Amino acid sequence: MLAPEVEARPWAEQLEEDDGAYRTQLAYVFERSAFYREKLGAAGFDSAGAAGGLEDIARLPLTDKRELRATCSPEDPIGAHLCASPAEIVRIYSTSGTAGSPSYVPLTEGDLDNWVTASARSYAASGVVAGQRIVSTYNAGPFAAGAALAAFERIGLTHVPVGTGSSERLMLTVEQLRPEAAVLTPSYAEHLIERAAGRGMDLRGSSVERVLVAGEPGGGEPAFRARLEEGWGARVTEAMGVGDIGVSLWGECEAQDGMHLGARGFVHAELVDPETGHALAWEDGASGELVLTHLRHRAAPLLRFRTRDHVRVRMTPCSCGRTGPRVRCIGRTDDMLIVRGVNLFPSAVREVVSAFQPEVSGHILVRPRAPGPKQEPPVPVRVELARGREVERALGEAIRERLREVLVVQMSVELVPWGSLSRSEYKSRLVER
Ligand SMILES: [Zn+2]
Repeated sequence: MLAPEVEARPWAEQLEEDDGAYRTQLAYVFERSAFYREKLGAAGFDSAGAAGGLEDIARLPLTDKRELRATCSPEDPIGAHLCASPAEIVRIYSTSGTAGSPSYVPLTEGDLDNWVTASARSYAASGVVAGQRIVSTYNAGPFAAGAALAAFERIGLTHVPVGTGSSERLMLTVEQLRPEAAVLTPSYAEHLIERAAGRGMDLRGSSVERVLVAGEPGGGEPAFRARLEEGWGARVTEAMGVGDIGVSLWGECEAQDGMHLGARGFVHAELVDPETGHALAWEDGASGELVLTHLRHRAAPLLRFRTRDHVRVRMTPCSCGRTGPRVRCIGRTDDMLIVRGVNLFPSAVREVVSAFQPEVSGHILVRPRAPGPKQEPPVPVRVELARGREVERALGEAIRERLREVLVVQMSVELVPWGSLSRSEYKSRLVER
């Protein structure tokens, strides 16, 4: 642990300390954020005092990204939630906007430092230690993921940036510089197994002992993870961040049973029902959408921000000694389909299908027939066969049957030859929209 006095602190103590930070954050927001003064005022909270403490947080309205975007204008490109003066801002990231124009994430020097601290704790949970080498494949450019790179130096690692889109360079780097760890998206980690095999390289016998995956859900699906671990001959753990809130907020430890909140003390996490927005209790096995609140942010703090990440919770004590809840991301609520009342995550479809390896490649594409989340069965899915396999009716049937058993959803399975579904070097698209 980078900071055992923080990371192993009893969770109740953490919440007590967070309550004080939250009240201070609320006062700051009421003083400086035009967005929240108006939003909270409209909900009947005219002062920080009226909003209470963490115990009362579920009484406050949720914040949706679209609301923030709606306050942006040519005069105010960041939005009405900006709290700091231009002189205080040291960096501005952007997130990819769905409507074309990006939205901006400003940071003060302190915000950035907190991001790096949280990120360092999250990545260090994987077991990487000072003195080791880590090769990274982020071409973060304008995106917040770039801030995570500073975490590697903070841990004391030797960081070897390679970037995305140069698999050959990456494999040479692994062969020549012999890094103990690699950090990439799960899609890219999988892609490299195929690439290395094509090149006759023995990835399993390489120096890489730990593969840290982040940037998209899926790194925790058991069958997918087993394939990555087998292909790399390495232990795979995952990390997760939310561009608007912080980079690498969560990181998984060597027990590989969900991600710990590396951003504890900086961010408060809640669980809500994505349909109703109602708060859910942190109970072992519970699942819901993650909602996050800044506790010590200065540039543009967010309260009860809907992350659209759907997670399952682990509350049992972890053998690593870190306290607090752990989460496993099971998909984006944006990708979630609802089929006759049953929630269907494309990542869950991929997990079920992956169990049919070596017959299939593991690549899938769910193809909803209607716009929006609500779908009528059967939901079509394309399943790619493994290299050299031919379409067999019985296999399609077996997959369809297994999907129905495990996910309780009727799907129609179309088997397609190896190589027909597009590969991504960054994030896989599992749903056709
Ligand atoms: Zn742990």
